[in-house]
Amino acid sequence: MAAPWQDVVRDAAAVREAAAVAVDAALLAGVLMRTGEQPRASDVVNYAPFTLLPTVVPQDLFEQAYAVQQDFNLLVDAISQNKEFLEQTLASTIKVDDFTARLFRIYMQVLEEGLAQNVFLGINRSDYMFDCGVDGTAALKQIEINTIAASFGGLTSRTADVHRLVLKVLGKTKEASRLLPNNPSKGLALGIAKAWELYGSQSAVVMFLVEEIQRNIFDQRCVELELWNRNIRVIRRRFRDVFEKGSLDGSRRLYIDGQEVAVVYYREGYVPQTYDQQNWEARLLLERSRAVKCPDIATQLAGTKKVQQELSRPGTLEKLLPGHPEAVARVRATFAGLYSLDEGEEGDKIAATAIADPERFVLKPQREGGGNNLYGEELRQVLEKIKDSPERTSYILMDKIKPQPALNYLLRAHSPLQVSECISELGIFGVYVRQGQQMVMNKAAGHLLRTKATEHADGGVAAGVAVLDTPYVV
Ligand code: ADP
Ligand code: MG
Repeated sequence: MAAPWQDVVRDAAAVREAAAVAVDAALLAGVLMRTGEQPRASDVVNYAPFTLLPTVVPQDLFEQAYAVQQDFNLLVDAISQNKEFLEQTLASTIKVDDFTARLFRIYMQVLEEGLAQNVFLGINRSDYMFDCGVDGTAALKQIEINTIAASFGGLTSRTADVHRLVLKVLGKTKEASRLLPNNPSKGLALGIAKAWELYGSQSAVVMFLVEEIQRNIFDQRCVELELWNRNIRVIRRRFRDVFEKGSLDGSRRLYIDGQEVAVVYYREGYVPQTYDQQNWEARLLLERSRAVKCPDIATQLAGTKKVQQELSRPGTLEKLLPGHPEAVARVRATFAGLYSLDEGEEGDKIAATAIADPERFVLKPQREGGGNNLYGEELRQVLEKIKDSPERTSYILMDKIKPQPALNYLLRAHSPLQVSECISELGIFGVYVRQGQQMVMNKAAGHLLRTKATEHADGGVAAGVAVLDTPYVV
């Protein structure tokens, strides 16, 4: 569907004026990142990349994405408690993928000892694209669900104001008034606060587990400030700090620098490069503790690409969500074609199909954070090379989703202002809290729209490919 501001997209003077206003408004609103040159301090910052214009999103698909989020929360939570499912599903993967294998080993170790944790907090983001069918109708298709360190819930709550102003500058006042309010960081903080409260120690803190280099610190600060506003103390620590100063007491309460930790909110820990031997030990210490981990290691494993692929097998959702046929139907409706590359006839067949027609598929390893997937000719070459080796089981295949592109301007510091053909990805944040067997919170907490030029197959905002956007829902 054409945007109601298509007329101005090619008006160079109007675009230049609007872009100058947009950049200053973004800085004023706090749509910020540390710079690549000075990533370790906040003395020099710049605006996080964003689109000049909002992007049209069909209302029915937008509502569908919100409506299925509580189902996805239930599903992820159910998987995280299903040892048999995780064991079976990841059995082939952990034979060849060291990273997943190490996470899995910690998972088993913690289960053997017996869980000290009794309150569970999930913060996830389910990402979708709008697949354009041959008849031109768009369908909501899930790309993946992120169960650890799902980001941009903070910065995205500040982009709608910027886009509202841009539309006004462009003379689109009526359209400006239709942009929806959105504040995921508040919903995320409500979940963390609930988990903190249920943990039940007034003096305990919330620990954000952060990277060595924190370019996206302002996004995290948005959640942090919401917690301080509720008089909940927040500390920021790295795995290294946990290794050096973390300890458990007799009932496995977690202490760091003398402070008891109620909730560990991971904004780190999803890529193998994070972990040396000491950091693995720190991870194990955290997982063994009574503290509420967001996510616990089982929930991180529930977010692997291999699990996603197995969920699409007939009958699997029904087993995981017994007695919830409507939730199963809503979840399944968002699935694109997903295929196992496990050894055997099924895997041989789909590997051959993908080698013959690579443009139809995306080849995905068990990695997060963007830039890992393979497409087109590269997909064909890699699959050709590994098709007869067990290594292929560390990947899954997925149907490539083909959204209708739209024109926009991607505003990035030090980059020329030029029009790009773009596609967008909608994420819905989900938050849930469980105490023992009882769900005490299950919510959709807001949305994130990210947009990238069609010349890039892969990559998120942090990877420097996608930029923040605001949906214009029609
Ligand atoms: P990551 O964990 O690295 O974020 P994703 O599965 O989200 O992995 O893939 C990264 C990016 O690749 C997505 O943001 C999207 O742009 C693109 N992508 C992934 N899967 C598909 C697909 N099936 N069809 C089209 N593009 C895809
Ligand atoms: Mg992703």
